Amino acid sequence: MIAALDIGGTKIAGALVDQHGALVHRARRATPAREPADALLDSVYEVVSTLAAGPLWARVRSVGIGSAGPVDLARGTVSPVNIPAWRNFPLVESVRRHPALGHRQVTLAGDAVAMTAAEHRHGAARGHGSALCLVVSTGVGAGLVLNGSVHHGLTGNAGHLGHISVDFEGDPCPCGARGCLEAIASGPAITRHALALGWQAPATADAAGVAAAARAGDPAALAAFDRATRALAAGIAATAALTEIDIAVVGGGVAQSGAVFFDPLARHLRCYAAMPFLKELRAVPAELGPDAGLVGAAVLASAGAPPVGAVLAEGAR
Ligand SMILES: [Zn+2]
Repeated sequence: MIAALDIGGTKIAGALVDQHGALVHRARRATPAREPADALLDSVYEVVSTLAAGPLWARVRSVGIGSAGPVDLARGTVSPVNIPAWRNFPLVESVRRHPALGHRQVTLAGDAVAMTAAEHRHGAARGHGSALCLVVSTGVGAGLVLNGSVHHGLTGNAGHLGHISVDFEGDPCPCGARGCLEAIASGPAITRHALALGWQAPATADAAGVAAAARAGDPAALAAFDRATRALAAGIAATAALTEIDIAVVGGGVAQSGAVFFDPLARHLRCYAAMPFLKELRAVPAELGPDAGLVGAAVLASAGAPPVGAVLAEGAR
């Protein structure tokens, strides 16, 4: 049994996860994202305390954390974009100090990398030696499986597809680059683009509303999904050309849109993944839903910490 935490800008979720990826005991708090660092940690502690209060806690071997990024695996720190009080926050060390932890090991991964581990072990990427897994929601996150293993990279941020440029003369991105995939393909970007093209939003304008309008044939909504999926296809095809992945697993709120999302994505993939060796490449929906972060944090914890610290200790960086 592994205790898993999934820390994002809106919620801190926890669960005990068995070896089949089943969640057997859950806890959850809203993330006080605008509060000071200590108040945020208190909420994390409350989730851990709730998990530790149950009878199964004695069977917990280790703790896995998936956190909004960027993360720094070597230092055990996180700097989530949407949690301003945490910059280089020592999350691993802080969780380790929780009184219920004892000598249990704590491992950390970025949330999209955790989702990738979950889809590779238990979901749509099962059986694939190499895969790209994406979360398309308020942002665009992604992780890579290469040669059968989740690829963390030196600091744990490998697979950061949301911040590769798919439009080299595009708008400046908060990350400092230009024309980033996230700025074109995220849910808010789809909504903005649809509104700019004249989509008449209902009470709340969001990507689910754009998807409903696209299903009804609204040309502005269809164009917004076309542009977003075209950008995603360019990013996925580039990844495939570099790594020979044959599958891209797409989860997150925007991917819930179904055919209005996956049909144009498949069409654009055929355009950008043009080389003969990419002809098997396809994009499919994620299978695990919103619990993927917890399941993946447990998968990674059960595999032990990635060897990032050892690499850094040898002076490779
Ligand atoms: Zn960017």
